[in-house]
Amino acid sequence: MRAARFYAPGTPLALEEMAATPPGPGEARVEVKGCGICGTDLHIALEGTIQLPKTPVTLGHEAAGVVAEIGPGVSGWAPGDRVAIFPNVACGACYACREGREVLCLNGQVLGINRDGAFADSVTLPASCLIPLPEAVPFTVGAIVADAVSTAYRAVVGRGGLRSGERVAVFGCGGLGVHGIKIARLRGAAQIIAVDVAPGALRRAREAGATETVDAKEGDAAKQIRSLTAGEGVDLALEFVGLRASVTEALRSLKRGARAVVAGVGPDRVELPPLRSFVGSEISLLASMGSTREDVRTVIQLAAGGRLELASSVTGEVPLSQINDGLRRAFTKEGDPVRIVVVP
Ligand SMILES: [Zn+2]
Ligand SMILES: [Zn+2]
Repeated sequence: MRAARFYAPGTPLALEEMAATPPGPGEARVEVKGCGICGTDLHIALEGTIQLPKTPVTLGHEAAGVVAEIGPGVSGWAPGDRVAIFPNVACGACYACREGREVLCLNGQVLGINRDGAFADSVTLPASCLIPLPEAVPFTVGAIVADAVSTAYRAVVGRGGLRSGERVAVFGCGGLGVHGIKIARLRGAAQIIAVDVAPGALRRAREAGATETVDAKEGDAAKQIRSLTAGEGVDLALEFVGLRASVTEALRSLKRGARAVVAGVGPDRVELPPLRSFVGSEISLLASMGSTREDVRTVIQLAAGGRLELASSVTGEVPLSQINDGLRRAFTKEGDPVRIVVVP
């Protein structure tokens, strides 16, 4: 099989011929039918801002495909089953796993980060990572649900606790933000204010259901949000950018007692407001990391039932042989992509 191997930042991924790993006890081998290119892949492969513990490694962590082979002791799955892949491989024994928060596993591995991922013809992983994918959901959409969509779902619903009728601000309208907007609309948000600096992203935000947009280049996004909310601010601010400035603006856009959820990742330090206003306004600052298997199942159900439109999020497909071109297009935002999916 072919696999796209990462050696060092700034160096193109090397398409190498490798032996497919036969599934061990409790494992399955999945023939990859689609694997999305995520911002994380760009941070690793092009920018070098996320360093990997061990190289070379096959990148790719948002994937779907068909079960090709099952290992000893695996029940409930058979070759030919359509699956989405949950990218976190948890140990099942640490306190985080025992509390059901596998994404926080102390000994966890993530597909395409610290174990070989799915920019390949096939991937072998624990069968516990498989999630059924109904016929109604195409593989390219199945690929992006496990990361781009479910991460947004956890931020809005699991951590943000969005209730019907609330006002929301979404900072960053790329692959996560645009899904955050769709989910907020589905949950009955009364007002969804989208913030970005790219005209294309703001247009897409409106198409996804944002009621208003704020161009952060025009300065003081929080002030613009306040003027759109009768001076009050929002109940929930979602930060999908991963920059100090946008976390600061997210906090400043909140009304008293409201909460900000940060799902964007980067090297910046966040800055809290002076304690008299942080404490005095009783705001909450929450972090949101990845998703749960249950989140992925829920998102797949929403997509299969037609309640969550995701086909428009797959804005491009590239064959595995052209993965470096796909990474470049995702990085330069050529053609204004939401998600480019590698279809081996
Ligand atoms: Zn990702
Ligand atoms: Zn664990």
